[in-house]
Amino acid sequence: MPPTSERTIADAVIIGGGVIGCAIQYHLAQLGITNTVLLERDVLGSGSTGRSQAICRMHYSNEITTQLAWQSLAVFSDFAERVGGHSGFVQTGYLVVVKEADQGGLERNVAMQQELGVPTSPVSQDDVARLAPMLTLFDDERAAWEPLSGYADPHQVTVSYAARSREAGARIAMRCPASGIETGGGRVQAVTTASGDRIATDTVIVAAGPWSKPVLAGIGVDVPLLPVRHQVATVARPTEQVPHHPTVGDISQSFSFRPDGSNFTMMGFGEDEAQPDPDRYPQGVDPADAASARARLARRMPGMADSYYRGGWSGLFTTTPDWHPILDAVLGVGGLYCAVGFSGHGFKLSPAIGKAVAELVAEGRARDVDLTPLRLGRFAEGDLLESSYRYRVLA
Ligand SMILES: Cc1cc2nc3c(=O)[nH]c(=O)nc-3n(C[C@H](O)[C@H](O)[C@H](O)COP(=O)(O)OP(=O)(O)OC[C@H]3O[C@@H](n4cnc5c(N)ncnc54)[C@H](O)[C@@H]3O)c2cc1C
Repeated sequence: MPPTSERTIADAVIIGGGVIGCAIQYHLAQLGITNTVLLERDVLGSGSTGRSQAICRMHYSNEITTQLAWQSLAVFSDFAERVGGHSGFVQTGYLVVVKEADQGGLERNVAMQQELGVPTSPVSQDDVARLAPMLTLFDDERAAWEPLSGYADPHQVTVSYAARSREAGARIAMRCPASGIETGGGRVQAVTTASGDRIATDTVIVAAGPWSKPVLAGIGVDVPLLPVRHQVATVARPTEQVPHHPTVGDISQSFSFRPDGSNFTMMGFGEDEAQPDPDRYPQGVDPADAASARARLARRMPGMADSYYRGGWSGLFTTTPDWHPILDAVLGVGGLYCAVGFSGHGFKLSPAIGKAVAELVAEGRARDVDLTPLRLGRFAEGDLLESSYRYRVLA
C-alpha cells in the first residue's frame, strides 16, 4: 500500500474505535502509514472493549493464541516505555482450574506454553495452598499457575493507542459511523459516513466488534459472527478475610474472577447465546445469575462468603464457530481486511494483533507470527481451532 501525501484521501480507513482498531491504527503509524482515518460510531472504547474484564493470561489450547497473548503481555507490562501512556496492568498471577476429567488438556496446554517460553506449570493442592491460601482446590480438580499474568485497563490502553496515533498525524473521527464501503473493479474504493462524507481509500480494515457482521454484509461478505451476551459483576471484598487474591479462570465452575483494585473482586459469567442485537440488549446484570456467580466465588474462596454485590453490566462477545478471531484479507474484495470475532478474549491479544494486522496490511504478512490458523477460510474448509475445554472462552 503506497503512502500518499494527498490528505483528501486516506491510505487506510479503520472502521471501529475499540482496542483492536486503535491498536491497528497505531501500528500502521509505526510502519510509517500515518494518513489513516479511524471512524468510531460513538466514542473510543464504548463497545466490547469498555466492558471487558481485561484479564491477561496465556493459558490457551492453541499456539497462535498463546503467542499473541505472550507477546501482548510484554507490551502491557512495559506500556509506558513501549507505547506511551498507561495500560493499568496489575500482575496478580493466574490460576486456571479444571475438572479432573480435563487434566490431559490442561497438561497439554501447559506443555505447549512452556515450549513457547511461557512461565507456567501444573500445580497441586499443596502448591495452591502455598501460592494462594485464600483459594480452595477440590479433590476432583486440577490447576495450573502463571505467575506473570493479571489484568489491565482496557480504556487506558485504547485511548493511549489513539493518542499516539494522533501525535503521528493519523485522524480519528468519533460519533462518525461508517455507513458503507464502496467497491469497484474488485476492490474497495471508499468509505462513506452517516454524515455524508466520502473518504477515498484502497484499504479498509473492519474492526467493528459486534457490529462487524452487518458492516461486512453491506458489501455482500458473509462472516460467521454471533454476538453472545456476557455479564460482569463486582462484589465488595471482606479485606480482613481476603486481603488479595490472584486472577482465576475457573473452568471447573464456568466463570472467572480477578481483583478489582484493592477491595473489590470482579466476576465474569453467563454466556447468553440468544443472538442479542448489539443496539438493543439488556446491558444490566440478571440478579439470579449474579447470585449464582457469588455462590461459586464463595465456594472457591470461602472468605468471600461475606462479600456483597456492588453492581455490574453486560457486554457482547463477538463469537466465531471456534471461538477464535478472524484476522485476514477478504478474498475477492481487494484491500478489505477484517480483524473480528474475538469471542470474549481479544483484549489480552490486542497489542500483538494490532502489530500483526498492520504488518499484514502494509507488507502482506505478519512478521512475528503466522496468522494462517486465523484465516477466514478455515470455517468453509472445516479446519477449526480446537479447545481442550468445553467452556470455550477460557481457552
Ligand atoms: C463482558 C466482557 C468481558 C470480557 N473480558 C475479557 C477478558 O477478561 N480478557 C480479554 O482478553 N478479553 C475480554 N473480553 C473481550 C474483549 O473485550 C474484546 O475481544 C475486545 O474488546 C474487542 O475489541 P474490538 O475493538 O474488536 O471491539 P469493540 O470494543 O466492540 O470495538 C468496536 C467498535 O466499533 C464501533 N463501530 C461499530 N460499527 C461501526 C460503524 N459502522 N462505524 C464506526 N464505528 C463502528 C463500535 O462503536 C465499537 O466502539 C471481554 C468482553 C466482554 C464484553
